[in-house]
Amino acid sequence: MSGKNCFEILEKIFKAKNYQEINEIKGYTIKYGKIVDGEEIIDEVLVSYFKEPKSYTTENMCEINSHGGNIIVKKILELCLKNGAELAEPGEFTKRAFLNGRIDLLQAESVIDIIHAKSQRETKTGIKQLEGVLSRQIASIKQEVLDIMINLEVSIDYPEYDVETLTNQQIKEKLVKVEQELKILEKSFDSGKVIKEGIKTAIIGRPNAGKSSLLNAILKEERAIVTAQEGTTRDTIEEFVTIDGIPLKLIDTAGIRKANDEVERIGIAKSKETAKEADLIIAIFDASRELSQEDVEILEFIKGKKAIILLNKIDLECKISENDERLKEITNHIIKISALNGKGIEKLNQEISNLFHLNEINVDNDIIITNIRQKNLITKAIENLKKAQETIENKMPLDIIAIFIKEILEDFGKITGEVASEEIINEIFAKFCLGK
Ligand code: GDP
Repeated sequence: MSGKNCFEILEKIFKAKNYQEINEIKGYTIKYGKIVDGEEIIDEVLVSYFKEPKSYTTENMCEINSHGGNIIVKKILELCLKNGAELAEPGEFTKRAFLNGRIDLLQAESVIDIIHAKSQRETKTGIKQLEGVLSRQIASIKQEVLDIMINLEVSIDYPEYDVETLTNQQIKEKLVKVEQELKILEKSFDSGKVIKEGIKTAIIGRPNAGKSSLLNAILKEERAIVTAQEGTTRDTIEEFVTIDGIPLKLIDTAGIRKANDEVERIGIAKSKETAKEADLIIAIFDASRELSQEDVEILEFIKGKKAIILLNKIDLECKISENDERLKEITNHIIKISALNGKGIEKLNQEISNLFHLNEINVDNDIIITNIRQKNLITKAIENLKKAQETIENKMPLDIIAIFIKEILEDFGKITGEVASEEIINEIFAKFCLGK
């Protein structure tokens, strides 16, 4: 519970073993006792006390740690509600931390990212953002714009005074510098997107080419972390495989691990459907057999797309060469593997990493934007910076330049949440789960 009166509610339902007046209990204290409903003992619990302003929300807070289990937890929740507490909205705790000024919007958004993170790299970027690395960078860039604004205002408001103001050329140079700094952040979203969403990967190949064996090989060889999610369309499953911190989102693998006859039934048409929305296509061929008509069809299909060709079953006698012109004219990313014994899987990882420049992503040192809302606002600020520069080039009056600079400052305000509308804020916190 969080809020001014949460301890009053707590007192009605919690009997501490060694009773103390609430104002005698220090923050960051845990007390042992029982949750009671009148005479009835509900559970034996530990309660943590946090006193304002030193809590997650900056309000008075308490946390009841009960034995697990749905019945007990539900009963305690009901007791709290019966005694005057209100059920939190999704993300309400973090929202209060934001509204009470403990964190900015960038940090609040990083909490969602950390909760939903699917890879080490994603948690790392989230934690860094929560610590305020991005907030500080934005604040520092904003300060540069603010300095320009102050200078402009002095020139506009006190033209008669001989105060030292920047020349138009100097203002322009400063704007160019700010633009460059923002462009670095904007560009980081390329990596950010990969970190957050993973590389949407479709494995295609005709029945028996070795799709499911490949998947198993990836899982086994790399001791990969796998999480399965229901896809948006019926019948699809999205699986995240994280290999050396590289998140691969394998889409529509529903058929891949099913029995062979079902794979047959699903066929290539289905694979093509899946591959349409992929960032990467892994096309797998049975190299122990000549290229079939279906294989040629697959090759046609991946032409011009970001794709890797796998020649599988190289432990058997090879009937397809990696130098085959029909393959080489499609892509030069051709790897020989044996899904059965795991040979070549490491090479495949390397190839994916190269294709997406994954080793250039440095989550430890670079500031990386992973959030589309933040990225869009940065893009908008860059556009306004360009407009401001144009007005200077066109020798427009200072107050016109000032209009664009003001817009840029507003864009910054929206990024950190200083001037974000209620609607936007609600939308952001709706993405949270309950109790966060
Ligand atoms: P899918 O239909 O594309 O999913 O193909 P599977 O992964 O089910 O593989 C079809 C058959 O080929 C199975 O009997 C596998 O054991 C076999 N297979 C897969 N990869 C290899 C390989 O690298 N070498 C050999 N010898 N057999 C393989």
